[in-house]
Amino acid sequence: MMGEAMKKDFVARSFTIKGVVQGVGFRPFVYRLALHYGLKGKISNTTTGVSLHVEGIKGDIDSFSRDLHEKHPPLAFITEISSRTVPVRNFKRFAIAKSIRQNRLSTLISPDISICGDCLREMLDPGDRRYRYPFINCANCGPRYTIINNTPYDRQYTSMKRFTMCARCQAEYEDPGNRRFHAQPNACRECGPQVGLYDNHHKSIETTDPVREAIELVKKGKILAMKGLGGFHLIADGENIEAVRLLRERKRREEKPFAIMSYDVESIRKYAYVDPAEEELLTSVQRPIVLLRKRQPNRLAENVAPRNNYFGVMLPYTPLHYLLLQGDFIALIMTSGNISDEPIAIENDEAFDRLSNIADVFLIHDRDIYLRSDDSITRRTAGATRVIRRSRGYVPMPVFLKADLPPILACGAELKNAICLAKGDKAYVSQHIGDLENLASYDFFQMTIRHLKKILRIDPEIIAYDLHPDYLSTRYAEEQKDIIRIQVQHHHAHIVSCMAENGLRGDVMGLSFDGTGYGSDGRIWGGELLVADEKGFSRAAALSYIPMPGGASAIKEPWRMAVSYLYDAYGEGLRELDIPIIRETGDKGMETMVKMISSGINSPLTSSLGRLFDGIAAITGIRSRVYFEGQAAMEMEMAAGQVTEAHYNYEWEAGEYYRIMPRPIVRGVVEDLLKGIRPSEISAKFHCTLIRLFSDICEIVSRERDIKRVVMSGGVFQNAILLTGLTKALEDRGLQVFSHRIVPTNDGGICLGQAMAAVAILRG
Ligand code: ZN
Ligand code: ZN
Ligand code: FE
Repeated sequence: MMGEAMKKDFVARSFTIKGVVQGVGFRPFVYRLALHYGLKGKISNTTTGVSLHVEGIKGDIDSFSRDLHEKHPPLAFITEISSRTVPVRNFKRFAIAKSIRQNRLSTLISPDISICGDCLREMLDPGDRRYRYPFINCANCGPRYTIINNTPYDRQYTSMKRFTMCARCQAEYEDPGNRRFHAQPNACRECGPQVGLYDNHHKSIETTDPVREAIELVKKGKILAMKGLGGFHLIADGENIEAVRLLRERKRREEKPFAIMSYDVESIRKYAYVDPAEEELLTSVQRPIVLLRKRQPNRLAENVAPRNNYFGVMLPYTPLHYLLLQGDFIALIMTSGNISDEPIAIENDEAFDRLSNIADVFLIHDRDIYLRSDDSITRRTAGATRVIRRSRGYVPMPVFLKADLPPILACGAELKNAICLAKGDKAYVSQHIGDLENLASYDFFQMTIRHLKKILRIDPEIIAYDLHPDYLSTRYAEEQKDIIRIQVQHHHAHIVSCMAENGLRGDVMGLSFDGTGYGSDGRIWGGELLVADEKGFSRAAALSYIPMPGGASAIKEPWRMAVSYLYDAYGEGLRELDIPIIRETGDKGMETMVKMISSGINSPLTSSLGRLFDGIAAITGIRSRVYFEGQAAMEMEMAAGQVTEAHYNYEWEAGEYYRIMPRPIVRGVVEDLLKGIRPSEISAKFHCTLIRLFSDICEIVSRERDIKRVVMSGGVFQNAILLTGLTKALEDRGLQVFSHRIVPTNDGGICLGQAMAAVAILRG
């Protein structure tokens, strides 16, 4: 019996915990914690997380509560813990409530998570029953989002349903004290998925160890297609220039950098610089690709990331990756299993269909991928981690909003498409879908919408989409029945996206810089300073319109933009300029361009800053033709030397809004070229010019409109020099600056802004 003194200390407390706490090892963690402190009670799932009742000695409950906050499993993402004292109910033990009623389940689903330290140790231990088993996982790690086709997160709704657990796995699964308690993908060699090696005619290759055989073939220069977590990868030895060349040729990927994977951070340091923040990012459970500055010289083939100062590097995130990288490669090319811009292959038959002209050999397995998810790409810039491509590891973690939204679907833009489903205070931005320029991507787009609506249980009442009449996403939106349709201007959506992730409301100045976006006047915008709030905007400043001779061709061929800017700066006098771009264009080419520009034939007008980057890149000889979107601007950044105070003249004209003239900048560049000044110096001066120009304008608009907050968004802000420089310059002038970290600054983040803006527009 309990003494009187003890009875007083014997209390009960109930906790409500919100966030991602289901399917992430949270309940076993709480169970073990309760046992540790000798507490009784129960834990059960709710629609928003879990609810928990514990009773015991007050001091023990305090310790339990502290550990709950501080020691929760790495995958659990807690948004709120609240607790209150409740009457003691005299529980006999601590229990995990068994039955889960479907309508009581949280909509929060965990992203896919890299293999944990415990599982890795077991897999490398010859004495362990899962030694070298490529599908080892536990409640703290493994696949989630990519293997789910419905909720609740239960084995029957995952692609593991066709594998029946053996007695030993089942026992682990049912033991609340075990790391594999309720680990839905739990498996072992006896009962789980298996790998197999095939040639590119889908013929099985006889071997006792498919992984070791695959390693040998890659070492011989073969290209391997391997089924991973979110799709197939194409793999080649990063030191083998011939294998990399072959891969580029077969995949039709001329110059875009390839991502690479190394066994550990120590291996990465052999070819790239890694600072402590980058190391933390590399080793995080999300395991994204991190852009790391190259060490020179290094042993990797030069065609891995040509003309780029960075490598895109990731660490292994599945057991199979670890096994493959035991082959002592410094780095393996790990690029998406697709041809040019199509979605990444996920099914075995599909992979043989689509990739047999690229890969020599296939390492596949029989655990299905339900939803493809590319590798995420990140970069540390201006003191923060920026997500450039948000997919595996991050999706479907919601962006938590400071607003309450009705159920809404936002369709995103055309390039780097991602969609957003939102409801209440959560916005779910989908994985990277890709460029909606082919039917395969459009199918993936529609499939993702269907899939997310189902697993997130969101039935949208509103659909938000871009103003562009020709986007496939626009077509999709306009085909939907019985739904409120709201169009949101592209650059406004960029700004509101950045506001949403920074929790801002009300008036801001928005620098919206990108390559292309449909303007309210039907022209192509992209160098805009908007004064905006969630529901509307006006242009406070923008680059002056310039013709794009050839329309879309001018995007692929920056030399066309160069001619257009030169014509703007010099008129017919441009023919007399003794600079390489004029000689290369030739009389005939010049004739055609000038005719198009002056007559306006097939020459849409643009205020895009991306195009100005292209034009300057072509004028300085850095790049006159591009193989992928944003290449010229990227190489301008890479080419830039030390940015100093040196800059070109700039000016604008007052009117309805400040029109910024490219003319003096272009003239300054040409004069430097004629003086023999190197492209690295010109590029640095060009960057400095933009930083000064836009901070001057922001300062003026700030005074005129009494707004102190500047929001920066759009693909051009992937440029680290501009992002860092403008942030500092604006802060030096007493302004508050906000940029993207959670969602991409490029069009991959635009759907979030569309959702927020559409609701604001609708509410008026
Ligand atoms: Zn694990
Ligand atoms: Zn088993
Ligand atoms: Fe954009």
